Amino acid sequence: MKLLEGKTAVITGAGRGIGLSIAEVFVQNGANVALTDLAFGAETDEFLKNYGSQTTIKTYKSDASDFDNSAKLIEEIVKDFGRIDILVNNAGITRDSALKRMTEEQWDLVLKINLKSVFNMTKAVQPVMWKQANGSIINMSSVVGVSGNANQANYSASKAGMIGFTKSIARELGIRNIRCNAIAPGFIETKMTEQLPEDIRQEWIKTIPLRRGGKPEDVANVALFLASDLSSYVSGQVINVCGAMNT
Ligand code: NAD
Repeated sequence: MKLLEGKTAVITGAGRGIGLSIAEVFVQNGANVALTDLAFGAETDEFLKNYGSQTTIKTYKSDASDFDNSAKLIEEIVKDFGRIDILVNNAGITRDSALKRMTEEQWDLVLKINLKSVFNMTKAVQPVMWKQANGSIINMSSVVGVSGNANQANYSASKAGMIGFTKSIARELGIRNIRCNAIAPGFIETKMTEQLPEDIRQEWIKTIPLRRGGKPEDVANVALFLASDLSSYVSGQVINVCGAMNT
């Protein structure tokens, strides 16, 4: 029996990068998956070509930072799949800047997309999981939400906010067997980190004891553990996936 056989997962920001890699690992382990993103491109097409017939997989264009959109999305997914066992709040962006140059728009946008989306989606899925008396919610935070980072005050604050939210939800919903955990990835090689100049990438890598950037699968495998019953007594935790960058 596969680890996620019979379970349905919703993943935000699943069109590419870490979210798509989580979808891949979940399907390999038997889950039915609802991929949600603002838009889908070639990477999603390739995924659907490779995995489309293995389990039930559907794509939904949706803005996780929009409250009403998120409620409608969850309603539609429940209609299509009948249940939701796993929610991965993965959608996220960066708008890096030194505080002296950071605009109000950069602050608001990052907080809205990274943090408000987690509230929107978790609030929408809560009644479904409450009724089932079962659920695993996984929030994609970051090591900089734990430690802070220069030039990322907006992003770090949003990711730290996700950790506070995770711990609160774990305490509040544990009574209905709903677990909530956060993953704090370090430097993972995706389109998000591709934007960094090569010399800065190399500087980052020098600070990582395992001496490499993480792969999206490194994060996806931890998401698999948190989504599955292997972690049935793990809730309210933050798991760093960072090659020992944060200890
Ligand atoms: P990515 O940019 O490759 O993918 C992010 C996805 O989120 C994109 O497909 C994008 O369209 C989607 N998205 C953005 N806004 C959205 C919205 N409002 N609604 C729905 N979807 C939306 O990034 P990634 O590197 O795969 O990162 C995934 C998550 O992991 C993010 O939350 C990011 O902050 C976090 N993270 C990444 C790293 C890293 O090194 N790559 C490190 C720590 C944390």
